[in-house]
Amino acid sequence: MVESLSEGADWQSATCYLNDEWTPLIDAKVSVLDRGFIFGDGVYEVISVDTVGGIRAPFRAQAHFARLQRSLDAIRIDNPLRLEQWLQLTAEVIERHPWPRQLVYVQITRGVAKRDHPFPAGIAPTVFVTTSPWPPIPAEQVERGIAAVTHADERWLHCDIKSTSLLGNVLMKQYAIDQSASETVMLRDGFLTEGSSTNVSVIKNGVIAMPPKTAQLLPGITVDGVAQIAQQHGVSVDVRPIAASELKAADEILLSSSGRELLAIVSLDGAAVGSGAFSGKPGPMYRQMHQWFQQAKLEDARSWVAQRDAHRGARRPTERIA
Ligand code: PLP
Repeated sequence: MVESLSEGADWQSATCYLNDEWTPLIDAKVSVLDRGFIFGDGVYEVISVDTVGGIRAPFRAQAHFARLQRSLDAIRIDNPLRLEQWLQLTAEVIERHPWPRQLVYVQITRGVAKRDHPFPAGIAPTVFVTTSPWPPIPAEQVERGIAAVTHADERWLHCDIKSTSLLGNVLMKQYAIDQSASETVMLRDGFLTEGSSTNVSVIKNGVIAMPPKTAQLLPGITVDGVAQIAQQHGVSVDVRPIAASELKAADEILLSSSGRELLAIVSLDGAAVGSGAFSGKPGPMYRQMHQWFQQAKLEDARSWVAQRDAHRGARRPTERIA
């Protein structure tokens, strides 16, 4: 139930699900021997929750859990819960908190063991789920766009795994902040990969181009939504490698992620993006996509409610699979 507490309410009042138990977030503890802490040996998901048309719902929850499954498979951790249990757990963590906008965080690590590189046998993964208030995306960023800088992508070659080993991404985000920019757009061998925590698409002559889903970038749920929505409305989407020169020549550059939704990059390395009346400003495709995206959220919220009702009575998430 949505209560009166505002989104600004103290995140420290949150509850979390940690290894089968609900605990106040502030009191939750994992072992210093957890392989997530020692090796970054874990994967995660972040799912946005918004209240649209009076419905508070996560956006594309099933797609997030499908990606979680792929990440777990890639690092050979057995999924501790089934899809319907994940969906029920997501519903429960949202329900336990009053915020109309939330970011649900799911993390699974290989578990606790004596420090040693090989996968230990017979340990249970650490499962952690929590949520926090998701402040509205600043209106100024939506209206005016954001500045980005470019940098060589120096991360490893499995960026498709949503790994908790995020040092490379953290350094790239800080690089942006140090340059008074809002995001770093990364390039590998002269081609666009992604942002430090976002996907990046380029718009030229009414066509949205986005890099293919290779191991070099995270297959974003939001950018997938952008592609789908664009195609539904007859906008061409071209999935192909994007050269650095195309960023410079773009009419518009679009950034997307669960936490930031869609934003226009209006300045890149200090140069205005686009030309004419839209030089350095969010362009018409951004505005159109942003509007369609909000509609898609409403449709998704309605299908979440239908799907949740259909699964009522499923096994409680706290019952582990034998
Ligand atoms: N790329 C990276 C490196 C990210 O960390 C994220 C999100 O956190 C994204 C892309 C966007 O993914 P999504 O739209 O699923 O949030």
